[in-house]
Amino acid sequence: MKASRYNFIYETENYISVCNIVSEEFIRFPEEKIDSVRRILNDPEVNWNDLELVSYMQEKGFIIDDDYDEEKTYLKMLDRYKGNAGHLDLTIMPTLQCNFRCIYCYESHEIIDMDLETEDAIVAYVKSEIRKYPGLSIEWFGGEPLCALERIESLSRKLIRICEENKKPYMANITSNGYLLSPEVFRRLRRIKVQHYQITVDGLPETHNFQKPFIDGSDTFETVILNLINIKNQYPKGMYDITIRTNFTQQMLSTAKPFAKYLSQYFADNPHFNLLWRLVGNFGGERINSIRNLLLKDLSVLNEARLFASKLGLPFKINRTCLGVAGTLCYASTRNSYIITPTGQLLKCTSFLDEPINNVGFLDDKGNMHLNENWEMWFQVEPCANKQCKNRPTCGGMICPMGSLKEGTCKCPWDDNSIIDEMKILSENSMTYECYRHRTELGKKSSNLEERNKHGDKL
Ligand code: SF4
Ligand code: SF4
Ligand code: SF4
Repeated sequence: MKASRYNFIYETENYISVCNIVSEEFIRFPEEKIDSVRRILNDPEVNWNDLELVSYMQEKGFIIDDDYDEEKTYLKMLDRYKGNAGHLDLTIMPTLQCNFRCIYCYESHEIIDMDLETEDAIVAYVKSEIRKYPGLSIEWFGGEPLCALERIESLSRKLIRICEENKKPYMANITSNGYLLSPEVFRRLRRIKVQHYQITVDGLPETHNFQKPFIDGSDTFETVILNLINIKNQYPKGMYDITIRTNFTQQMLSTAKPFAKYLSQYFADNPHFNLLWRLVGNFGGERINSIRNLLLKDLSVLNEARLFASKLGLPFKINRTCLGVAGTLCYASTRNSYIITPTGQLLKCTSFLDEPINNVGFLDDKGNMHLNENWEMWFQVEPCANKQCKNRPTCGGMICPMGSLKEGTCKCPWDDNSIIDEMKILSENSMTYECYRHRTELGKKSSNLEERNKHGDKL
C-alpha cells in the first residue's frame, strides 16, 4: 500500500484535512486523529493499531494498493466528461441587450432579442435530441437575460414539457446582474425551475457603482442588494441557491474585508447564499482598455480576505470538482455543450463572443444543427505541456481552450498552492465544509458527470 500521489493536505493545530482529487474525497479529521492520519499517510504498510482508520482512509482513496493506476482512472473519467456522456448543456442568450454598462464588459449590447422562430428552433432541436442524453441543463445568459423574461418563461415551459414527456431531468441556472430580480421575478423564475442564480455585486457601493453603472450612468448597488435581501426574507425555505459573485480589481483589494463584513450582516450562515470571488479578466472588447492598469494577475491576493469572510460565516462556493476530476476543465472542451445566441448562432465560449473561432455553426428554423469547420478545432487544442502538474486531473490540461486557441499556449491561473488555498476555505467554515460534503455525496449518487458539475461554478 502507498499514499496516493493526488492527496493534498492542510493541517492546523485543531484538525488535519485530506483531499484526494482523483477519488474526489475531502475529509477534515479531528485533532485526536492528526498524528495517526499523518503517520498512516507517511507509511501505510506498518501494522497500525487503528485498523478502522486505515480501512477508512483506503476507502476514501487516500491510501491505495501499489498496483492501482490512478492516472488511468482519471484519464478515463476525463475522456467520459469530454465526450457526450453528460446532460445536453445549453447556454441560451435570450437577448444581447443589457440595462448595465459594466466597465469590463466585453459585449456590444446590440438590440437583438430572440424571436419566436429561434425559440421554436431550439424547441425542435431539443425535442429531436433529448433521447440521446440523460437530461437537459439550461443556463440563461445574456446580455442581461432578465431583460427578456417573457422569452425565458415561454421557452422554459416548452423545454420542461419535453423533458417531462421523455422522463428526463431538467435543471436551470441563470447569470444576471440582479437589478430586475425582484421577489416577484424570483417567484416567476422558480416556477420555471430556475434553481441556481449567479448575481454580481462588485464590492461596496463605491466600487460596485463605479464598475457596474446602469445604462444611464446611475447607481445600481442599492437596488441589487435590496433585491437579494428581500428574496432572502421572503423565501426562507425551498431549493435554490444564490451565488453572489464579485469581480475584483486593484482598487477593491483594500475594501475586501469591509465588504465581507457588510455582506455578513445579511447573508452569514444562510444556506441559500454563497460567495464567488474572481478577478476581472480581459475577455476582449474595447471597454477593458480603460481599466487595464487596475487588473490583478493572481487570485491568491484574495486568500486572506476570503479566509476572513469564511470565518464570518459566509460560505464560499467551491466547485466540488475543482477538488476533483474535470472541475477546472472548461465546458467549451465538451461535446455536449453549446451556446445559442438570440439569432440561433452556435458558440463554444461565453467570453470572446466576437472571435471568429468561437462561431461553430447555427440552428436552422427546423431545429437542425449545422456545425462548421471550427467545431472540431475545439477538441484538437494542444493541452497544457506541464504533464507533471499534480493538479492535472482537475483540468486535463484544458483549463481554457479559447486561451490556447488564441495564443497557442495555455495560461494557467492555478499554481501549486491553489488546491491547498481552496481546502483552507473549506476547512475553516463549517457550513462550506458541510455543503461541500453534501454536494460530493449527491454527486457520487449521480451517475453522470455533468449533473455533478452543475453544483459547481464555471471558471
Ligand atoms: S451586466 Fe453583464 S452583460 Fe451587462 S454590462 Fe455588465 S457584464 Fe455586460
Ligand atoms: S499547469 Fe494548469 S493547465 Fe497545466 S496541468 Fe496544471 S492546472 Fe492544468
Ligand atoms: S475558460 Fe476560456 S474557453 Fe472557457 S469560457 Fe472562459 S474564456 Fe472561454
